[in-house]
Amino acid sequence: MADKWVYLFEEGHGGMRDLLGGKGANLAEMTKAALPVPPGFTVTTEACNRYYQEGRTLFDALKAQIEEALGKLEEKTGKRFGDPNHPLLVSVRSGAPVSMPGMMDTILNLGLNDATVEGLARLTNDARFAYDCYRRFIQMFGDVVLGVPHYLFEQVIDDVKAQRGVRHDPELGADDWRAVIARYKAIVQRHTGQPFPQDVKAQLFAAVRAVFDSWNNQRAIVYRKLHNIPDHLGTAVNVQMMVFGNMGNDSGTGVAFTRDPNTGEKRLYGEYLTNAQGEDVVAGIRTPQPIETLREAMPAVYEQFVAICERLERHYKDMQDIEFTVERGTLYILQTRSGKRTAQAAVKIAVDLVKEGILTREEALLRVDPDQLHQLLHRRIDPSAPRDVLAKGLPASPGAATGRVVFDADEAEAWAKRGERVILVRPETTPEDIHGIVAAQGVLTSRGGMTSHAAVVARGMGKPCVCGCEALKIDLRARMFAVGERVVREGEVITIDGATGEVLAGEVPLVDPVLSPEFHELLAWADAVRRLAVRANADTPDDAAKARAFGAEGIGLCRTEHMFMAPDRVPVVQEMILAETREEREAALQKLLPMQQGDFYGILKAMEGLPVTIRLLDPPLHEFLPNLEELLVEVTKLRGDPQADPERLAEKEALLAKVRKLHEFNPMLGHRGCRLGLVFPEIYEMQVEAIFRAAAQLVREGVDVRPEVMIPLVGHVNELARLRKLVDEVAQRVMAETGTSVAYTVGTMIEVPRAALTADEIAREADFFSFGTNDLTQMTFAFSRDDAEGKFLPHYLESGILPDNPFITLDERGVGKLIAMGVAEGRKTRPNLKAGICGEHGGEKRSIDFCHRVGLDYVSCSPYRVPLARLAAAQAQL
Ligand code: ADP
Ligand code: MG
Ligand code: MG
Repeated sequence: MADKWVYLFEEGHGGMRDLLGGKGANLAEMTKAALPVPPGFTVTTEACNRYYQEGRTLFDALKAQIEEALGKLEEKTGKRFGDPNHPLLVSVRSGAPVSMPGMMDTILNLGLNDATVEGLARLTNDARFAYDCYRRFIQMFGDVVLGVPHYLFEQVIDDVKAQRGVRHDPELGADDWRAVIARYKAIVQRHTGQPFPQDVKAQLFAAVRAVFDSWNNQRAIVYRKLHNIPDHLGTAVNVQMMVFGNMGNDSGTGVAFTRDPNTGEKRLYGEYLTNAQGEDVVAGIRTPQPIETLREAMPAVYEQFVAICERLERHYKDMQDIEFTVERGTLYILQTRSGKRTAQAAVKIAVDLVKEGILTREEALLRVDPDQLHQLLHRRIDPSAPRDVLAKGLPASPGAATGRVVFDADEAEAWAKRGERVILVRPETTPEDIHGIVAAQGVLTSRGGMTSHAAVVARGMGKPCVCGCEALKIDLRARMFAVGERVVREGEVITIDGATGEVLAGEVPLVDPVLSPEFHELLAWADAVRRLAVRANADTPDDAAKARAFGAEGIGLCRTEHMFMAPDRVPVVQEMILAETREEREAALQKLLPMQQGDFYGILKAMEGLPVTIRLLDPPLHEFLPNLEELLVEVTKLRGDPQADPERLAEKEALLAKVRKLHEFNPMLGHRGCRLGLVFPEIYEMQVEAIFRAAAQLVREGVDVRPEVMIPLVGHVNELARLRKLVDEVAQRVMAETGTSVAYTVGTMIEVPRAALTADEIAREADFFSFGTNDLTQMTFAFSRDDAEGKFLPHYLESGILPDNPFITLDERGVGKLIAMGVAEGRKTRPNLKAGICGEHGGEKRSIDFCHRVGLDYVSCSPYRVPLARLAAAQAQL
């Protein structure tokens, strides 16, 4: 219904996420399931969008429907909004369709004023409690709605606590809170020029507006950008009867996960604070106790809670993150949602839910984000390394990180921009610190629990985090922290271990991770589902072996130039380049031949039984020579030095002349790839000979080898035709000489737009195509890959000219069209043409999905991304 802006909880259901937001839809769903949810209503996301259309005003129909819903809430609760004899208090909670934890503001205890607070005190017979609620309300409303800086309020509490000589908030009594309230009101008056609002309806409307407005606050915008959440969704507002966890020791509030969000282990995992309101836990103001505290204090409530957790998990078929409050021994559920989890936990939970019969294998495969899977391959601290442990906090998000200490988010961002690795160290983090967390390698806080802001956000981003490390005495002004006698200043290096909670001095060596049985199990399911094969880009036998261990089904790109770069080879390569005659060049190449042969032997052997695509030399030759400017400086120096060795000078001058001769204004479009092979065929001849001598040797040893020779940078079929002939001739010669037979294919990279456009012709000469999407993107956009990132590309991305960095996510509409055309045209000529991709995009999940749709046979990516690609390929199929 277009003009229904407000839904009572009992009018909605879980499927109404878009309209009611995630929180609202789940509150409705739980209400339907007769769970103990305090009653309330939800103002829709459509109302939020309409609010913006109306120039940020609460339109009349909306106000009327809110008042009507409020009336029903009064009936249901038997309390009245603004009535001192029986005051109804509510929370006003934001809730977007996509979970944005901590991004938006919540206001608790709304409906309190100077009159109703007295009523609350009388009714509950607890003045301390009533004034505690009122001061919380003024503080939150003041901060969120009136824009009063929250530290002003916090200072007052610190003052009063100091005066009274107590450390914790609950130790303050009614009179203390009354004093706090008087000072709070003065702060509001001073800051806004108005007294604190006493009209409860005005409070409510202002709070609803503030939630709507918070949809467009800076941190919400940053969060949306970071997580690709569209801006037009809008947020819903939930208005709900308050229940009180701050009514004494038989009250409290907590957050629990139905499984361990770090490991995925099936056990209740959570935190509980006695005599507190929810914000205390979430904001990390007090470090909470483990959930077992509740079991000891109120076993019956705990049992009831455990039963509800199990029900919710089965109902939503996923691990839940549940917020709850106990008011004088009665349990209330305030929120449930799918819990954020580490990569390790995501994999374990998905696999366990299949084993428990809750999910199918296919559903489980869709539950794990390929990027998250990738995080599991991150490194951790070498267990055998000496550890200089400074302190130990809570292990909030696994993985290890090393970096320089910085103490605020802006600094973290600035340092990271300069290329420094930093660890953000804070007493606690708030949503305002989000850009600093993004920029940092890891986060360390001295306060807050496993569900504090820092922990939740870091886990979501896959960053290591240690929190609640209370031994740290942080001095933000002096930019240092102390642990006992030791002091660490801004800029000094520390290492944090998010798996153990340890904080270590200095840099500590890291090692490769150990992968769980569930990891392998999930990937085996993925392999059974996917059509797209996954290969790896690997240049050395070591990388090849690693790729194979990660499940690569071949090598899609073996770059031979890296083999030329080894320090002991560079002089020989230079000799080859500097040769003046073909004979001289061949002599140098003869020295390189056995080296290359050894390389290929190692790789082909490591990939026994699997295809290995070897690309012949690609970069311009000057890349193997010294830098022109440096050489010029050196020669100038030698010329001016009377003592200089004349022979050495002559040598350097010859080198300089050659470097000048090879110099190109635009080397990326220069004398490289197949153009080298055509002008200096002896280079490619040597490489092909090395490949086939290695292959022949392995065949004689009984090893199954499958070399695929790949010609780079082809734009015209004639280029390929000639080089294919060269490859075939050398291959035949070597096979004849060695008396072996090697099964091989010859193909080309498609990385020059003209090759894609004439793929039908090119396919006449190619057994396979491999789309080199790095160059293809560069040439299609006419963006220099090496320069664009540092120059205009950031501007393009920030201002929305481009939706994504095309060097990371394949540009489907442009570059993708060339790929689609290349495959289709190529297969017209050669129906069994094998086609794959070997650019960076082969390891990026959205690009992999595209490769699947466009009918490629395989993707090839760096060894570490192979597991990600296996899962993404399965998801593309599902
Ligand atoms: P967030 O989206 O940031 O988690 P919530 O709307 O869940 O914000 O509110 C934050 C906290 O406020 C919750 O954890 C909960 O403990 C508390 N809270 C919200 N509504 C109520 C309520 N009706 N009664 C008591 N506490 C509440
Ligand atoms: Mg919440
Ligand atoms: Mg290329």
